[in-house]
Amino acid sequence: MDLLEYQGKQFFSRYALPVSQGFVAHGVPEAREIADRLGYPVVVKAQVHIGGRGKAGGIRLAGDAGEVETAADSILGMDIGGHTVGCVLVEEAARIAAEYYASFTLDRSAGRYLGMLSARGGVDIEAVAESDPGSIARIWVDPVESLGDAAARTWVRAARLDETAADELVEVLLQLYEAFVDGDADLVEINPLILTTEGRVRVLDAKVTLDDNSVFRHPEYRAYDATQPRDEREASAHALGLQYVGLDGTVGVIANGAGLAMSTVDVVAQAGGAAANFLDIGGGADVETMAAALRVINNDPAVKAIFINIFGGIVQGEVVAQGILDALDRVELRAPIVLRLDGTNADQGRAMVAPRLSEMLMMAGSMSGGAARAVEIAGSA
Ligand code: GDP
Ligand code: MN
Repeated sequence: MDLLEYQGKQFFSRYALPVSQGFVAHGVPEAREIADRLGYPVVVKAQVHIGGRGKAGGIRLAGDAGEVETAADSILGMDIGGHTVGCVLVEEAARIAAEYYASFTLDRSAGRYLGMLSARGGVDIEAVAESDPGSIARIWVDPVESLGDAAARTWVRAARLDETAADELVEVLLQLYEAFVDGDADLVEINPLILTTEGRVRVLDAKVTLDDNSVFRHPEYRAYDATQPRDEREASAHALGLQYVGLDGTVGVIANGAGLAMSTVDVVAQAGGAAANFLDIGGGADVETMAAALRVINNDPAVKAIFINIFGGIVQGEVVAQGILDALDRVELRAPIVLRLDGTNADQGRAMVAPRLSEMLMMAGSMSGGAARAVEIAGSA
């Protein structure tokens, strides 16, 4: 899951990283109250799950109460790359002498953590990587050995950051590493990490992606769930406990298992169509889940055909068939279903569905055949 900047900074501050004092406001008066409390100047920052807020006018410095009100008023409700600004972070403004870039991610092919550090921060790092690759100093850290003081110091030197701030920079990088590892993050990125005019190091922006699978170790991460960006379909699917991702096509897809669901999206594309979604109902495929899945897909106005692709492994064909039949009694379908049922006890399952076959429920003999049929129906609808 992706954190908003203010959440990322809260996360960082648990690891003692130097973030500026600040609070979140959902309205103009609240923004002003916070600024009055912090003292001026402050910076008012749009909180959305997308970068480039500065360029879009979503970051504004304010020297007095009037400027805070004007800034908050213009930023709240603003659209930044399709994301509507619902709240702003109001924080003490820092005076910037230099802007750096620092991040840690996982380098899967190397089997190590990858740290990136650059004296060219505050701008789009992808653009820097293109135009001036030599300005990014990379370090690969063995998870077992961890990042040491000496290695961090060499890294700071390689990135040609200000030598007089080296001690503080090393400390911040070690804290960032600790946050990345101990916090089970997939990405921690500070852009910009700044040197203030007083020669101090500060975290001015925070981009953090946490590993969803680590929530059992960090129950407090559940609180971030409420602010995840989701479209309406994804939000309702999520509320029903389904693994759903909205896509742009017209064939609604239901499959059991993430791998099969992904292949199903692929075979729909190979058949010349496009999936309306990815939906994995998991191993169980019970009545409740199937009904919930059908309801979510049925609510999507773009869906013209539904392809249910089930391969019974642990789950048996009869259970799946019963789930679909019961779900059909509960959900009034707008689009026809093409069902492919294979695997354990598939014959028994298909026999149960046979009497109910109609224009609205068709059986396919294979995965590719089912995809082709669903794409054809969607195309002629
Ligand atoms: P982004 O554009 O979404 O990456 O948002 P950032 O948080 O990185 O802010 C963009 C830019 O705004 C930074 O690179 C800074 O130049 C500027 N900025 C942000 N916070 C402050 C601040 O406290 N003081 C000053 N002077 N500039 C700031
Ligand atoms: Mn930034």
